[in-house]
Amino acid sequence: MRILAITNQKGGVGKTTSAVNLSAALAHLKQRVLLIDLDPQGNATTGCGIAKSDALPTVYQLLLGDTTLANAIQKTEFGFDILPANRELAGAEIELIELDGREQKLKEALATVVDRYDYVLIDCPPALNMLTVNALVASKSVMIPMQCEYYALEGLSDLVETLRKVRENLNPELEIEGLLRTMYNAQSTLTQQVSDELTSHFGNKVYSTIIPRNVRLAEAPSHGKPAMAYDASSKGAQAYGALAEELLGRHGKSTAKK
Ligand code: ADP
Ligand code: MG
Repeated sequence: MRILAITNQKGGVGKTTSAVNLSAALAHLKQRVLLIDLDPQGNATTGCGIAKSDALPTVYQLLLGDTTLANAIQKTEFGFDILPANRELAGAEIELIELDGREQKLKEALATVVDRYDYVLIDCPPALNMLTVNALVASKSVMIPMQCEYYALEGLSDLVETLRKVRENLNPELEIEGLLRTMYNAQSTLTQQVSDELTSHFGNKVYSTIIPRNVRLAEAPSHGKPAMAYDASSKGAQAYGALAEELLGRHGKSTAKK
């Protein structure tokens, strides 16, 4: 089981879009996938057609030890499972401070399902807070979605520094899985400059798959669907399909379709 945190403390860079669409694309390639929504906004939850119900247990109850992972997981219509979130999760930040081993809660919970999934993708909130730390402690690696714009690189050094601290103190194994260029506009000179800078800095850590700006990716969540289920032939859906194949290739797995 490979646990991957999709993280960037900037909002609006494509974390949730990548989490939902990559989950669907990996499931399509016969991978058993669990998507964890770790953002109180619950966008990954609704983006998979799951209601943000207060009645059912979510990742919030799980982190505070009030439910089991098996109890909180729900099936989506798209071949993967989800651990949903809702606004309650915003309170976890403060409530976790009281608990011993507060950075380890998600990791401990995931230990109970190691054999059930091939991939666990964690959609992180746009902050370097205790929720994100829980994701980084639980994960083997991080995927960093980013828009190729001027301030993107600045934010990246804060993130790299956080990863270094987590590696030193909490999770020595943690590595950068890859940087994902999202909402890419090939016509823009600035985009290309930033993209070049990125590859000269991070080399093959930058995925060769690029996610273009594509309106279908923006529309799909309002239908509660990954782009693949909304418009499979769209450039956006295709790009996430290619990313899933690149990921499996990097992890030495074959990519036979379902
Ligand atoms: P984050 O989770 O990092 O805050 P989102 O995935 O929610 O970012 O994306 C921010 C906004 O941009 C959303 O409205 C989303 O639908 C839109 N979006 C994300 N990726 C793309 C893309 N490749 N093309 C067009 N719109 C996109
Ligand atoms: Mg998000």
